Amino acid sequence: MTKYIFVTGGVTSSLGKGIISASLAKLLQARGFKTTIQKFDPYINVDPGTMNPYEHGECYVTDDGAETDLDLGYYERFLGTPTSQANNVTTGRIYQTVIEKERRGDYLGKTVQVIPHITDEIKRRMKLLGQNGSHEIVITELGGTVGDIESLPYLEAVRQMIWELGNDNCIVVHLTLLPFLSASKELKTKPTQHSVKELQKVGIQPDILVCRTDHPITMDIRRKVALFCNVDVSSVIEAITADSVYDVPLLMRKENLDIVVINKLRLMDKREPDLKEWKKFLGRLKNPIHEVKIGLVGKYIELDDAYKSIYVSFVLAGAANECKVKVVPVHSEDLNYDNVENKLKGFHGILVAPGFGERGFQGKIEAVRFCRENKIPFFGICLGMQTAAVEFARNVLNLESAGSTEMEENLQNPIIHLMGEQHEIENKGGTMRLGQYACMLKKGSRALGIYKNAMIQERHRHRYEFNNEYREAFEEAGMMCTGINPDNDLVEIIELKDHPWFLAAQFHPEYKSTVENPHPLFISFVKATMVYKVNHTVRMAEQKS
Ligand code: GLN
Repeated sequence: MTKYIFVTGGVTSSLGKGIISASLAKLLQARGFKTTIQKFDPYINVDPGTMNPYEHGECYVTDDGAETDLDLGYYERFLGTPTSQANNVTTGRIYQTVIEKERRGDYLGKTVQVIPHITDEIKRRMKLLGQNGSHEIVITELGGTVGDIESLPYLEAVRQMIWELGNDNCIVVHLTLLPFLSASKELKTKPTQHSVKELQKVGIQPDILVCRTDHPITMDIRRKVALFCNVDVSSVIEAITADSVYDVPLLMRKENLDIVVINKLRLMDKREPDLKEWKKFLGRLKNPIHEVKIGLVGKYIELDDAYKSIYVSFVLAGAANECKVKVVPVHSEDLNYDNVENKLKGFHGILVAPGFGERGFQGKIEAVRFCRENKIPFFGICLGMQTAAVEFARNVLNLESAGSTEMEENLQNPIIHLMGEQHEIENKGGTMRLGQYACMLKKGSRALGIYKNAMIQERHRHRYEFNNEYREAFEEAGMMCTGINPDNDLVEIIELKDHPWFLAAQFHPEYKSTVENPHPLFISFVKATMVYKVNHTVRMAEQKS
């Protein structure tokens, strides 16, 4: 029988439900339980694909092409197993399904209502990943904060799940906050008591309270929270602010969160959690020998979450190289021909980020040119690759009016253009080239040397493509098309000859970097920046003497 764990949040948003869910999942997985995590988001968008990064942060993409919440990135990075469309459900998707059923006449003349029809659809999706024995434990993170109007149908669905499956098979972990009042120097429990009352009002008694705090929780506080919130003292878990999110699984282990869960769900404890690889990673992360500085050129730089997977991929690839990677965001709109050298000269490598639309495109072109001409390690992702292609066409092939038709229609030389089937598409949601596709790497290429495997699979999220009419001219001039989709001949990777490290990919390697398996392109790029730093320092010293 599959066991279900629901993770709710109280008092305030941004407490880190995603990290707590992923950490608990990691501990259970490390004990040998087949575990997955899903996120239910109470907004009306069918998926976050149509949302601006400023609204929602990065849109994470799964193998099967789902555009999802960035918490799924944490799930995959912590567990090392892929998620899918089923792992992220929104209110929009629930209503869409119910309304489609109503239009088909599936409800046989009944009045369609939030209860039972919406809650039934929520429950169906809550159980989906637990079917066919595919997972022993399904953790469901509920977005939002208890007390929100839009969360109510989800909480009602959770209440019904507990009633149907019993408290041995279904538990609720409530993440809450113990604020510290500096004037009286105490942790306060009242907000937690109120937020638990909100849950009790809708018929849910949380089984475990995970308390976010900046200060250790004393036994007195644990007892007080337990007494007033109606849980065991051992079920009051301290979640103290950690140095890094990667410490959280170990902190939760120390607090016995996994043991409490196992006991409540009456699971047979399989073994002690095997966290060897995790600890090795943490050791490297915390004791770097080297340090590099990489510029991340993009236009959503005000918000770290907009490039979450890229930042994290650098942390993971840095640890693999025993190197602290300092990623400094650079606003592409601030770059131009005259200032690019000044703005980028302190970096050991540059990554040009994915993105949409014209704003900041010219600045990205200047960043690419600077790296190409000065042999600075360059990594382009998605729009970053398209920019590298346009820069090459303009400044090396000297093609007039060369660009991407995303930025400008009626170009004389449309280096990047819309894919065939994209011309007919009108709806914006879920219609890009999404998800995992195969890519064949050319013999002798840098890419093949890095992947050590000629056929790779990578995830995509884009509408525009490299125009194959220019492939020959590019290769003759030294920009090699070294990764090709074997089914439709689309260019997936370009790399420059005679450059220490200049590679750009149409796909998103950052979505497939995990703690125990950092992405090889990121590892190799970081290595190249380390080499650049050494050579550059030597060069500077020689120039001085
Ligand atoms: N805007 C470009 C396209 O749609 C690139 C997308 C991206 O960088 N994710 O093709």
